[in-house]
Amino acid sequence: MMQNRVLVLDSRRQPLMPCHPARARALLKEGRAAVFRSFPFTIILLERASGDVQPVRVKCDPGSKTTGMALVAEFARRGPTVVWAAELTHRGEAIRSALRQRAMHRRSRRNRKTRYRAPRFDNRKRSEGWLPPSLRHRVDTVMSWVGRLRRLAPVTSISQELVRFDTQKMQNPEITGVEYQQGTLAGYEVREYLLEKWGRKCAYCEAKDVPLEIDHIHPRSRGGSDRVSNLTLACHACNQAKGNRDIREFLANRPERLAAILARAKTPLRDAAAINSTRWALCEQLKATSLPVETGSGGRTKYNRSQQGYSKAHWIDAACVGHSGSAVWLDAGMRPLLMEATGHGELQRARVDKHGFPLAHKRGGKSFRDFRTGDLVRCRKPGLPDFLGRVAIRFRPSFVVSGSDRKIEVHPKHLVVVQKADGYAYA
Ligand SMILES: [Zn+2]
Repeated sequence: MMQNRVLVLDSRRQPLMPCHPARARALLKEGRAAVFRSFPFTIILLERASGDVQPVRVKCDPGSKTTGMALVAEFARRGPTVVWAAELTHRGEAIRSALRQRAMHRRSRRNRKTRYRAPRFDNRKRSEGWLPPSLRHRVDTVMSWVGRLRRLAPVTSISQELVRFDTQKMQNPEITGVEYQQGTLAGYEVREYLLEKWGRKCAYCEAKDVPLEIDHIHPRSRGGSDRVSNLTLACHACNQAKGNRDIREFLANRPERLAAILARAKTPLRDAAAINSTRWALCEQLKATSLPVETGSGGRTKYNRSQQGYSKAHWIDAACVGHSGSAVWLDAGMRPLLMEATGHGELQRARVDKHGFPLAHKRGGKSFRDFRTGDLVRCRKPGLPDFLGRVAIRFRPSFVVSGSDRKIEVHPKHLVVVQKADGYAYA
């Protein structure tokens, strides 16, 4: 099974080609390299001040909960090969709820004072391209990882999935009536288009999260066309029940549903539906890096993935993004680095009850000597096996270290910092 390659820097901290973990182990053992960063694992060569590099492409598939990322060495022996992959979990929902709670506290504080003061928050002007903080966070975290990867690997180009479907690839079938063919790139774009148009559910029974089949509203056997305006999505049961009957026949007892489906089928989906403001904001920022940015559609990603027989995973989708994803070598068993955005703690200095009244003021800070709350540390307490955990600074000279299966109090003298807190948890 292939593992994530180890990222390599030369002695001037310029990125070299990622190397095999066995090679990195040998270099570390011989004392010719040192660990530069634990997550993602990066070594720095102590003797070499330069080296040959080949183009590496960073590819990303931005999602609302998880973003897949992959580094592809474009001129590897076998052809473009995934050498490093990661899945970044965002914390959009946590940001939303924290802001909602803050707004609630402010509102109750305003009302608690004797005279009314109008809320101030909606006096502010929003700049062009403003995104809600939870969405801004997705763009920011992806950009910070692209920046980090550019410092750790010789990245020369970027690929991003930008839209769900590409109407150009579909050749605008609502207008020209190009035939829909399953299994082709156009077919995949049509499928993504239909998913968007019909709200990702069965048109007849509204079943969600089930495999959906493409259904001809007027059956082909009765002269119905393959135009997209004659296609809808149905679950397997409904598709079977309908068979090759006409929709008017099938929905004879449900005139409202029939009217709704016929009306919806006729209305073409506006291009805007394919456009996701977060992805466009990300694309703008990626273009600002001055590296060439390739964009692809979700239909293209799925087509590339299924043509090459790869299973579904965020990092595999990332590797299959765009034209460059049509031929990419990867080991589907490879384990990506799992990164979860955890934030940098809170600034609130007082614990409050549900009404916003202070319960207790927090004492002390988040740091003590070389330690900071959130640092990843190795615990070497005598009598205990070594383990990795996150440190939380407490008042007494003893910290709480939480590992994967234990949470103990430890004196800092038994702790070694492995990686400084950077707002992410790794697995
Ligand atoms: Zn159904």
